[in-house]
Amino acid sequence: TGASPILPPITGLQNVPFQVLRTMDDALALKSAMTGAKHAMVLGGGLIGTHGAENLADAGLKVTLVEAKGQLLPGYFDGTASALIAKAFRAHGIDLVFGQAVSKIRPGVAVLEGGSEIPFDLLLVATGVSPDLSYLGQSGIKTARGILVDDLQCTSHPNIWAAGDCAESSLFQAEATGVAGILPVAVEQGRIAGQSMAGDGAVKPFPGAVSLNTYTFFGQQAISVGRCADDAGCESHIRHDEAQGTYLRIDLMDGRLMGAAAVNLALDPGILWQLILRRTDLGEVKQRFLADPKSIGRLVMAREWK
Ligand SMILES: Cc1cc2nc3c(=O)[nH]c(=O)nc-3n(C[C@H](O)[C@H](O)[C@H](O)COP(=O)(O)OP(=O)(O)OC[C@H]3O[C@@H](n4cnc5c(N)ncnc54)[C@H](O)[C@@H]3O)c2cc1C
Repeated sequence: TGASPILPPITGLQNVPFQVLRTMDDALALKSAMTGAKHAMVLGGGLIGTHGAENLADAGLKVTLVEAKGQLLPGYFDGTASALIAKAFRAHGIDLVFGQAVSKIRPGVAVLEGGSEIPFDLLLVATGVSPDLSYLGQSGIKTARGILVDDLQCTSHPNIWAAGDCAESSLFQAEATGVAGILPVAVEQGRIAGQSMAGDGAVKPFPGAVSLNTYTFFGQQAISVGRCADDAGCESHIRHDEAQGTYLRIDLMDGRLMGAAAVNLALDPGILWQLILRRTDLGEVKQRFLADPKSIGRLVMAREWK
């Protein structure tokens, strides 16, 4: 059953018209709200908020994006990569406000925590999504943030399975469970749930979710695959060319890929995703992989797939 937009507990939000972006109907409602609007306010600098801001600016609106954390796309990119992305937004006239949440909304005005006021005549709320569990009622099915599932996507009820944005499953790179919220994981979990429901003995358990995001902005591109927690002790290899607007970060641990992020460099995110999931030992080719992750990643995977 997917997920629904989270509405932050901002005083006054429910008293003003606002838009969200999850379904086609939401997109059509946003499009019609744009008619006659001049100044859009976007709450949230994640993937939905940044795509929304870019398209609103392309349509000729003045756009202000407010992100409570200190950078754009905080769950996906580090500060350096994010600053390159932010530069493109500013170059296209979008005002970015970081490190302050909107604390109050009055008709046509958003008040930031610091007290400053930003006028708007169109408001897009993009502060994340959350599985909608309300229909489960008193079913007794175990939930946390999402519907808790085992590695065959079965819930706490033996005849009910869950997959995709509503399911909370194991994470590949953490001793924890989580809601992945991305299409490739939803597809994989759906396949496993279907096989498991049909009693297919060949079903392979879900290995845990690894994040995989490709992001395009103003004709540029960025990717983010996997993650390495700040305290995990990964070796981070970084190449940054401010003038060219390029960035590459590769995080390794014990010769194995943990995470990669790139801005304006061609990489194969699917191959990097597989290298993480297979815990492929890159020790032998480490220096060559760091110098050319695209070609060497392809070579290594070609060998693994044989
Ligand atoms: C604007 C946007 C852009 C995105 N871009 C990307 C991207 O580039 N890459 C990526 O990997 N992911 C992206 N995602 C996330 C991706 O769409 C989701 O991870 C994926 O759709 C999850 O699939 P799902 O089947 O779990 O949920 P959904 O696709 O949300 O489908 C759930 C369906 O269940 C229906 N439903 C809900 N409640 C009930 C009920 N009680 N009874 C019956 N039906 C019900 C809903 O109407 C909906 O049609 C994006 C999401 C959004 C909103």
